[in-house]
Amino acid sequence: MLKSKASQNAADQRNITRLRVLEHIRTRGSISRIDIASALQTSPATVTAATADLISAGLIKEIQTEQQSKSAKRGRPRVLLQLNGGSYLVAGLKVARHVISVILVDFEGNEVTSYKHPLDDARMTPTAFVGTIREAMDQACAQIDETIDTLSGVSIGIAGLVDAERNFVHWSSSLTERNVDFSQFLESELPCPAFIENDANLVAKAEQLFGLGKGLKNFLVVTIEHGVGLGIVLDGKLYRGERGCGAEFGHTKVQLDGALCQCGQRGCLEAYVGDYALIREATVADQSTGTETVTEIHKNARSGDERAKSVLARAGQMFGLGISNLINLFDPERIILSGAQMDLEHLYSEEVMTRIRSGVVNVDTPLPEIKVHHWGDLMWAKGAAAYGIEQVSILKVKELATHAS
Ligand SMILES: [Zn+2]
Repeated sequence: MLKSKASQNAADQRNITRLRVLEHIRTRGSISRIDIASALQTSPATVTAATADLISAGLIKEIQTEQQSKSAKRGRPRVLLQLNGGSYLVAGLKVARHVISVILVDFEGNEVTSYKHPLDDARMTPTAFVGTIREAMDQACAQIDETIDTLSGVSIGIAGLVDAERNFVHWSSSLTERNVDFSQFLESELPCPAFIENDANLVAKAEQLFGLGKGLKNFLVVTIEHGVGLGIVLDGKLYRGERGCGAEFGHTKVQLDGALCQCGQRGCLEAYVGDYALIREATVADQSTGTETVTEIHKNARSGDERAKSVLARAGQMFGLGISNLINLFDPERIILSGAQMDLEHLYSEEVMTRIRSGVVNVDTPLPEIKVHHWGDLMWAKGAAAYGIEQVSILKVKELATHAS
């Protein structure tokens, strides 16, 4: 039976409120109903109804704490709400060139286990891609004596242009084909809901839920590794662009007819800053030995090698130029430089800061904060897990609405 538009709107509104309450509890850790109502500027009755629904879905739980009171020997117990960490198990995956990293987390984002699955081929057909993901997930679940059926959702991060709303990949360096609609592939291979998203967006999501973006409304996350990625959070929401092709910071141009980029164009920021670019520059500069890794370039620079120093300094200058363009465009509260293993010190040196300041339109207020976040090598998988938790929350809240109607 068709619902009336008014009742559909009311149901949508209830879902929005439930998700806002849930996200507020996630941000605060533990909080009372009355404090939620005042923070969200809504009525206590609305919060009471929303929290009752969230408790029934297993997403949150009540805890009793003793209220501190100097006058009374024993304070009145106070009821706080917390996420129900053990309620759902979610998987986050990052598909890189040589490995798939998997992390299983509880609903609070705590790591339950992690696993690395070696990859023979950096580029796969969509069928091989999904099959390999399935294998990696089975292995990760086996580590904790569970099966894939116990997962409430899996989120997959890949480099490239992704329309996350419909699990559609326009292009990725991990795939042999362009324009792949993954919804069918994932549904037939995996028993749980699955979500694909651009890897830099996932790191932005992790910064928002667990990291240096917590509680901020407008911030940018720049990821630097093989390429250069950007996640844009505006007014608390991830901005993806109309076709899912936005935020390609690595392919903004910093030099007319400049260095060749892996995208095929010239003068892209990534062609100066990405790790393949550093290796290429260092190798061209020093053909006698040939530099193989970014770590070696850093090591050489630290021990005084002028060529290595100049390769890193040039990357820093190009990066500073790019960051000043971002500040001119977005004027964010904070820019977070998120790295997994890579050494980032050449990207926030005093010389780079000077370059940034000289490129930002002059006003008499301080620059946005620039912070560095070293995540360790599970950064991308943790990012995927953060997005998975958010998507599972949305699904569970939608299920609530279906049961209630
Ligand atoms: Zn490019």
